[in-house]
Amino acid sequence: MAVTRTFSIIKPDATRRNITGAVTKMLEEAGLRVVASKRIRMTREQAEGFYAVHKDRPFFGELVEFMMSEPVVVQVLEGEDAVKRNRDIMGATNPAEAAEGTIRKEHALSIGENTVHGSDSEENAKIEIDFFFSEDEIVG
Ligand code: UDP
Repeated sequence: MAVTRTFSIIKPDATRRNITGAVTKMLEEAGLRVVASKRIRMTREQAEGFYAVHKDRPFFGELVEFMMSEPVVVQVLEGEDAVKRNRDIMGATNPAEAAEGTIRKEHALSIGENTVHGSDSEENAKIEIDFFFSEDEIVG
């Protein structure tokens, strides 16, 4: 299996509760390596742009406000089959449906405040990595 990259966000509910280390530990223990990381406060433009695919969904406004409400940690993760590996350790969007041992089962507060974002395809991973990082910020 090829080593690939994916994009992750540790969301405001996690920075607020000071559990970014606990979340990152679960990512690392799942076989993912953090090859880029920065703590930022998302602008409205970034939050709306990043989630543009959801702009017609009823939760869009709330999602944008949430993503701007506290700092986030954006990360590039590397590992074998990184997109799937990350989706597996994240767990289902709704923590009530997330499997035991996943980040969302362990830490998420609600379907909105669900602790982590992870790219859903390699194509989107590339787009999302480029949205927040330049290549020289990624150190494998
Ligand atoms: N979301 C929400 N309400 C919903 C569905 C999604 O607030 O009913 C938020 C939630 O934070 C989720 C994000 O929108 O993580 C993106 O939704 P998506 O369906 O892409 O889920 P994900 O890929 O994050 O599991």
